[in-house]
Amino acid sequence: IGKFKKGLSKTRDILLTDVNELFSMDRKIDESLFEELEEILVMSDLGIDITMEIMEKVSKKSRKLSTADELKEVFKDELKALFPVKEETLLNDPKAKPHVIMVVGVNGTGKTTTLGKLALKYKSEGKKVLIAAADTFRAAAIEQVEIWADRASVSIVKHRAGADPAAVAFDGVEAGMARGMDVVLIDTAGRLHTQKNLMDELRKIKRSVSKRMPGAPHEVLMVLDATTGQNALSQAKLFNEAVGVTSLALTKLDGTAKGGIVAAVAKSMKAPLKYIGIGEGVEDLQEFDAEIFVDALFD
Ligand code: GDP
Repeated sequence: IGKFKKGLSKTRDILLTDVNELFSMDRKIDESLFEELEEILVMSDLGIDITMEIMEKVSKKSRKLSTADELKEVFKDELKALFPVKEETLLNDPKAKPHVIMVVGVNGTGKTTTLGKLALKYKSEGKKVLIAAADTFRAAAIEQVEIWADRASVSIVKHRAGADPAAVAFDGVEAGMARGMDVVLIDTAGRLHTQKNLMDELRKIKRSVSKRMPGAPHEVLMVLDATTGQNALSQAKLFNEAVGVTSLALTKLDGTAKGGIVAAVAKSMKAPLKYIGIGEGVEDLQEFDAEIFVDALFD
């Protein structure tokens, strides 16, 4: 939890000072308290809808309470309840071997870094991992993925720059099956200036993957940059319409005071938030846990 507190310090700075003052012993529960709380929540990018929902629940429960410090626990519980319960992953399902994860997201969000960190994580758990470098649009993207593959000592399938991304993904899955891999991570392009083309390309990758292995990809993991606040949400919706996002990673929470976006994303998307990034280091990609997250913010 210490690591989380440090990674979330920017959000903590605005939330904690204000919220703790709000929930102090001698503070009366009154209209002005609710107004201030509402303002703080909106500022942290929780979004209007979720803020309203929480305010309503908290204010209902507050009638039985006499002091504001008791209200803090009620408030924290309501925040935790926002997050959908995590689902079991298919990772150990023998029918889904290799477990194919297609990683999508807009350039600069931390997609490659997240993919690399995941390769390292799975590798350290003793799994056989292969990366398919299907962002063929930029030579630099292939090189960057290669660096991560070296670093994690995992296999890589790549073609030259400009090659058909769907063919790379197909080959990646094929190699993964032939070589008995446990996990295949597919890197994809994220250039948003040709939005229509990109969505077509992602759909085509997905189709070619499932052609080679029915049921795959088992996961479409979308990487979002928390510092872009509510924009991250509209990106998620766009990608979801195209390829059906099944899980989410939210990076750069260490770089923003708008940590409320975590709840906004988790609540608005049907897909569970699996990972949060709280720094550039490998150990800074953490599995998301609502309980730990809310405690790290408010304790
Ligand atoms: P891509 O274009 O989406 O593949 O983005 P990259 O993986 O290249 O990441 C862009 C930058 O964001 C890099 O400098 C990463 O080190 C940085 N980055 C990724 N995740 C995090 C995070 O959780 N916190 C911080 N502070 N930086 C991150």
